[in-house]
Amino acid sequence: MTAARTRADACPGALQTHAAADGALARVRVPGGLLTADQLRVLAAAARELGDGGLELTSRGNVQLRGLAEDDVPALGDRLAGAGLLPSATHERVRNVLASTLSGRSGGLVAVRPWVAAFDAGLQADPALAELPGRFLATLDDGRGDVSGLGGDVGLLALDDGVALLLGGTDSGLRTTADDAVDLLLAATRAFLDERTEQGGAAWRLTELADGRARVAARVGMPTAEPVAVPAAPVLGPVGAAEQDDGRIALIGVVPLGRLTADQVELLARLAPEVQVTPWRSVVVPDLAYDRVDDAAVDLHRTGIVFDEASPWLRVTACAGRPGCAKSLADVRADVVTAVLSGDLPADGARQHWAGCERRCGRPRGDVVDVVATGAGYRVSSTRT
Ligand code: SF4
Repeated sequence: MTAARTRADACPGALQTHAAADGALARVRVPGGLLTADQLRVLAAAARELGDGGLELTSRGNVQLRGLAEDDVPALGDRLAGAGLLPSATHERVRNVLASTLSGRSGGLVAVRPWVAAFDAGLQADPALAELPGRFLATLDDGRGDVSGLGGDVGLLALDDGVALLLGGTDSGLRTTADDAVDLLLAATRAFLDERTEQGGAAWRLTELADGRARVAARVGMPTAEPVAVPAAPVLGPVGAAEQDDGRIALIGVVPLGRLTADQVELLARLAPEVQVTPWRSVVVPDLAYDRVDDAAVDLHRTGIVFDEASPWLRVTACAGRPGCAKSLADVRADVVTAVLSGDLPADGARQHWAGCERRCGRPRGDVVDVVATGAGYRVSSTRT
């Protein structure tokens, strides 16, 4: 357990923005990473007309606009609300939901997209859940094991014989059915807040509570199964073309440094009625007829989206750096681009995260080489988190 927190988290939202060095930063929650074509068009227009022209993908499958004028934040809120991207002003920061990539289209034991919608609706329907921290995260895993290891506070993991409730990233031993799974997840979410109230303090994450996993589990029910090992999150998400169960194709492309231009966002909107953004800062364009795949891949690749598993862009992440962050000691992103294009990445191109200071914002979990600006260059070191 970390030292007891005494203040609420300051995670940005779409209305409660963060004052960055390059203007206001708005984070738009996208449960399950699912965005319709119309929503993409609204985001592209907002990025172009109100922001810095781009859309950032986050490690939780959300999106960010930056470079906003404070005066334009209400107008952004209106646009997002009109597109269904801000269904609740009170709950906007708490809708952090990761869902299995391609669920319902390819692989997995259950389709979790209905869980995403039901959990999101359940969150918004309960006024008390507006008090959740902006960092609280739910993972909905269809059994392929891609999101359960991504540090969720509560989660569902589909198994061959039911659905496991995960608490703090481990199996609680509580089991349910696919039909009742969302109710159990909502109960666990409420139990986190109840336990936090009883313990006092302002914990942001379930594992910050004293004996959090066990105490939250006890509030929800009795374990009925031996806990299973929760799959570790894959280091890299899927990339390339994946055949769906219905014979159509999903294209999965990695977005270098997680930044899409407004033009790229509009291109995505033209290619499919719905796309999914992933925690690996990639985009899934599903439901493509076989004879459309090559053209779509060429169009996306031409704009810089990557489909090659061997590309260094799959292994390099970076924080905002200069000019977006006043703390940064370097223009990290420009330096990463230079290093990638010159074939000059440190550590032989191993998985690496570049940061403008020691905070190392946005660092992926697991084995990652840290490349941290010092003011006189970069320090390269390898640690595990
Ligand atoms: S790691 Fe440092 S420089 Fe980079 S975004 Fe975070 S605070 Fe800013």
